[in-house]
Amino acid sequence: MTDTFDLEHIWHPYTSMTHPLPTFKVKKAYGAMIELEDGRQLIDGMSSWWCAIHGYNNTALNQAVTDQLQNMSHIMFGGFTHDPAIDLAKLLLKICPPKLDKIFYADSGSVAVEVALKMAVQYWSARGRTEKSNFVTTRSGYHGDTWNAMSVCDPVTGMHQIFGKSLPNRFFVPAPSVGFYDEWDQADIAELERLLAAQHASIAALIIEPIVQGAGGMRFYHPEYLRQAKKLCEHYQVLIIFDEIATGFGRTGKLFAWEHAQVEPDIMCIGKALTGGYMTLSATLTTKHVAEVISQGEAGVFMHGPTFMANPLACAVALKSTELLLAQDWQTNIQRIAQQLNLHLAPLIQHDHVQDVRVLGAIGVVELSFNVDMKTLQQQFVDRGIWIRPFGKLVYVMPPYVITEAQLETLLIQLVDVVGSLQEVAA
Ligand code: PMP
Repeated sequence: MTDTFDLEHIWHPYTSMTHPLPTFKVKKAYGAMIELEDGRQLIDGMSSWWCAIHGYNNTALNQAVTDQLQNMSHIMFGGFTHDPAIDLAKLLLKICPPKLDKIFYADSGSVAVEVALKMAVQYWSARGRTEKSNFVTTRSGYHGDTWNAMSVCDPVTGMHQIFGKSLPNRFFVPAPSVGFYDEWDQADIAELERLLAAQHASIAALIIEPIVQGAGGMRFYHPEYLRQAKKLCEHYQVLIIFDEIATGFGRTGKLFAWEHAQVEPDIMCIGKALTGGYMTLSATLTTKHVAEVISQGEAGVFMHGPTFMANPLACAVALKSTELLLAQDWQTNIQRIAQQLNLHLAPLIQHDHVQDVRVLGAIGVVELSFNVDMKTLQQQFVDRGIWIRPFGKLVYVMPPYVITEAQLETLLIQLVDVVGSLQEVAA
């Protein structure tokens, strides 16, 4: 099944070039289905890493791309502007936190994070506070694979050990430990308070994924953490950056996860589902205040400008994808998915090898007591006609919102059967 040319020459994410994991060749995808080259059909449980919320080969999104192609697929953003960028910005600014008033388009989630970090540093530099150039973040976070994004990923599960001294040193506080559904405990914020009290003079911003820590552990934490963090950041003059790249566009049951806490950040990153998974596009939004301070600084400009900034094709499909989402009763749909995830996954907790089962919005997580054997498990899932890509101790699903009740039921029955029977393998 694995393509031999691919195997020998093409790098896949986080894989060895000498002992690569198998890959499955995809012929096409439509709705919540992925069709392999040999004709096998898989029900998609991953939305291609949080992106493909409307499913694959969506007629409206296809049309948006085709229409935009008739005008131009790309044009430089230096000195030019265009309707796709303007119309998308108008819509995004309406649905993002009200305080956010300026938008910077970038190419990928990681770049949006780099842009956010640079904004924070330039902001303090423009205010004559050049010593405020470092960052604080929580453990178990994930913000991307580029250099500075990497530096604020979890220092243990992230890439700090490999890249060592070449990574800038950041301040880390423990991951929020009070769960989303648990009773708030003020002790959860104590370390952040201590750290900010001691180090705020050198800190430009706190960067955090609101409510859901994604690739760093699929953890759901208490909204009060964000309210307390915001208060501390205001008190100690530290900006707050929300990385909503994974949580945006309805995934957690709110349009954006900040709404669970009603806390507005100074800077926010979005990406992934922004284009409905059609192509790469991200954005970093900020307040009028931050933008004005940066613009009045020594440089007079914000120092970033990617080649494919505000790519018209990507903006056009992002606009259509966001309109499509807003035009439907997506809240009820996410609740429907959440209920089904709960119904099927909750009983897994009875197994000794299952440590935790948690659901928030259209995210279902089963945490095991041991690291999974990805190769074996992935093959088992494919053999049963479902697409789920586990990592570490986590088997999780975040299906496209278009998945039908019947498709989701089949996906979850197969998942539960495979994960439940892992007991015998582990024992
Ligand atoms: N931030 C978060 C919260 C993410 O989940 C990711 C991607 N998993 C990124 C940033 C990086 O995005 P990209 O892979 O598009 O660079």
